[in-house]
Amino acid sequence: MNHNPFRRCLAIVAVTVSTATPTLAHDGAPSHSPTAPDPGIAAKPITNAAFLSWNTPFKPFRVVGNIYYVGASGVSSFLIPTPAGHILIDTGFEMTVPLIRKNITALGYDFRDIKILLSSHAHLDHTGGHALMKRLTGAKIYISEADAALLAAGGTNDFPPDVAEMGYTPAQADHLLRDGDKVELGGATLTCHLTPGHTKGCTTWTMDAVDDGKTVHVVFFGSATILPGVRLLNNPKYPGIARDYETTFRKAKSLPCDVFLANHAGFFQLPEKAERLERGDHPNPFIDPTLYRTFLEKAENTFRTQLEQERKAAAPR
Ligand SMILES: [Zn+2]
Ligand SMILES: [Zn+2]
Repeated sequence: MNHNPFRRCLAIVAVTVSTATPTLAHDGAPSHSPTAPDPGIAAKPITNAAFLSWNTPFKPFRVVGNIYYVGASGVSSFLIPTPAGHILIDTGFEMTVPLIRKNITALGYDFRDIKILLSSHAHLDHTGGHALMKRLTGAKIYISEADAALLAAGGTNDFPPDVAEMGYTPAQADHLLRDGDKVELGGATLTCHLTPGHTKGCTTWTMDAVDDGKTVHVVFFGSATILPGVRLLNNPKYPGIARDYETTFRKAKSLPCDVFLANHAGFFQLPEKAERLERGDHPNPFIDPTLYRTFLEKAENTFRTQLEQERKAAAPR
């Protein structure tokens, strides 16, 4: 229904943008002047030292195909520019938004052309900037149903015990995503894979890119970290958490992956690989299927170890 903001999207979410859009050239290059004055961004500051260390500037660059890194040093944001406007995956903290804008401008695009905001999961370090980004660009938020509820509450109804520092400016979803949905814009297609556990609506995105004339499979992994204090067994706030992690690992392992990208720079060796790419290493260092397998193996081992410890602790002596 029209008045329902949570309009469930169809299996294929197509966004129709008029071909007469005056702000974009046909090749997808922005026609706004990158030097045009910006409206100025007043972002809610973060004070946590660890969070701040993730929010230092990082030089934007093309990762592979039509995928650009525009995030900060520790929290990722990926830009997929198209002739019909841009898709942005993750907005970081609210304080990351000015960095993202600067990075997008430096690449020669205009962040006001962002039409769709996607996310890995609705924690303050990945969707903390959604409300501000939506206000500045008018972009629509596409998100899983479970994470839409977290986003609408600004992270305050989350299940980990330590949510006090996890609050952020709430934002409303425009489209709810289901497992397998495709988001399409200007010739770019991303597939949504629900990978719950870290949050109840944690999402992994996949898309194909072309490198050196060959198609490569790209995975934007949504996270499988278990936050401190989160119980896998007898968790009244998330009774199905262990089963969800099991499903997530099974599903993640089944995804073909040549290029592993993720919501935190440290997960996919961003600084090292970006440096190698800049100095001209060939083939593209981001094409590294082993890294994805190793990452998943480690994350699954951590999960299994904690599960085993909790089982032992719960067993009658
Ligand atoms: Zn998180
Ligand atoms: Zn995070």
